[in-house]
Amino acid sequence: MTNPLTLVWFRQDLRLSDNPALHYATQSGNGILPVYILDSVNSGGRSNGAASNWWLHHALVALNKSLNNQLLIINGDPSEIIPELVATYQCEQVCWNRCYEPWRIQRDKLIKQKLTQAGTTVKSFNGSLLWEPHTVLKKDQTPYKVFTHYYRRGCLLNTPPRTPLPTPDELRLQGITAQDQLYQGESGIKQLQLLPSIPWDQHFTDCWQPGEINARNRLKKFTQKRAKLYKQQRDYPSVLGTSRLSPYLHFGEISVHQIWHAIWQSEADSQSNPLDNTDLDCYLSELGWREFSYYLLYHFPNIPESNFNPKFNHFPWGNSAGNLAKWQKGETGYPIVDAGMRELWQTGYMHNRVRMIVGSFLVKNLLIDWREGERWFWDCLVDADLAANTASWQWVAGSGADAAPYFRIFNPVTQGKKFDTNGDYVRKFCPELRKLPEKYIHTPWEAPQHILDYAGIELGKTYPEPVVELSESRQKALAAFQQLKTITSSAQSAC
Ligand code: FAD
Repeated sequence: MTNPLTLVWFRQDLRLSDNPALHYATQSGNGILPVYILDSVNSGGRSNGAASNWWLHHALVALNKSLNNQLLIINGDPSEIIPELVATYQCEQVCWNRCYEPWRIQRDKLIKQKLTQAGTTVKSFNGSLLWEPHTVLKKDQTPYKVFTHYYRRGCLLNTPPRTPLPTPDELRLQGITAQDQLYQGESGIKQLQLLPSIPWDQHFTDCWQPGEINARNRLKKFTQKRAKLYKQQRDYPSVLGTSRLSPYLHFGEISVHQIWHAIWQSEADSQSNPLDNTDLDCYLSELGWREFSYYLLYHFPNIPESNFNPKFNHFPWGNSAGNLAKWQKGETGYPIVDAGMRELWQTGYMHNRVRMIVGSFLVKNLLIDWREGERWFWDCLVDADLAANTASWQWVAGSGADAAPYFRIFNPVTQGKKFDTNGDYVRKFCPELRKLPEKYIHTPWEAPQHILDYAGIELGKTYPEPVVELSESRQKALAAFQQLKTITSSAQSAC
């Protein structure tokens, strides 16, 4: 008699440690058939952006290595592929960790139904959230819409997150058919063709080392050194003050439970509560924002496309294609904005403070619909995440749940002077400005001609003139917002 088999379907959980589905499968004593399916386009979802595909390629290489080159990797529709594999290998059960994108929830339900009807056991687990969205509701059983209430009351007073699970001691991996060997390990990864055909990714390898082991090392360094300075340093883009774990978290090379637990452990010796430490509490609350984004996506599945606040459906966006292109290329003439957009292009990442600045600039100074920014980020970020990206863009635009009010418009010059005072960040990503003295690094158009000459800058040639004037564009944005109020109140009175 052959060994009973469990198919473990890896999705956004590309790790062996603290992987509840894999843990369950190994505990059952069955043989394991590990499978990854590139699923998005094939099952009605969004396809990955180019930067995410770069990350995914390397994350799969690392996972496959930990699985002795035995990961089966297929491009296609999981609702067909999973039942086919179950039939070919006569799997007794199928296990996965849950995802929360609306299209994945729908699809997984159908797969579960199909398999259960055919007599296969299906087990799904929570591998990626501290508190699953359906477990956190207000007293009246409706979802929270304000972050602080959600996090402080709904989450922190809820059941504490579980302790992370260990890496399985032994994996009894299943041999596969000669035909499927074409899709196994390195050859399977190659067939997905995730890497770019033109080498725009050359700087990525300098900045990032995907993979579970690298994620754990990064977390270790962060908890040992930077976590206790987090609140003080996190807003300065030239300082490595944040954890930079977002892409690892998105692809599940590390779990949020492992991070949460590591922060609590770091205080265990002194028997202190990290929630009483300003820096650690601040860091944990950022993980809370991640949870809140997933929570919003789960309870309000239209937020990737539609304004959370429907008033914004009437917003008179300008949507200039020329200005959008300048923003995308980092050629707006505002150094902190341009440095951010170039950091994004060169490294697949942008510091959070700068994401807020460039987002506000796009939506409020250029009057371009937040969805354009969201799409560009989606393509360029290695941590592009449907929940975090759409919730954050709606937050920046003022159209989201618990969002920054529309009339609060970031001034890129003031922000630059405050958070990149000596201009190190700008100089790194806009090298043509590197010789400008601190006084003019955020306002090159104010520099006297002899200083521009000294710095080798010709405005409009070597570095752009500002694409819009700040106070004028601010007034325009406020007027548009005012107009929105009039439109909505007249629409309401017409009802
Ligand atoms: P840390 O400061 O070390 O924070 C730890 C973790 O908390 C992060 O890794 C991330 O998982 C989570 N986190 C932190 N801030 C937020 C936040 N505001 N919302 C949700 N989760 C958060 N984050 C993404 O992971 N993917 C995205 O696609 C994304 N798009 C964004 C778009 C805009 C316009 C803005 C303003 C923010 C966006 N963020 C996104 C949130 C945030 O900028 C990044 O999570 C953060 O910069 C990642 O760096 P880090 O890992 O060093 O973060």
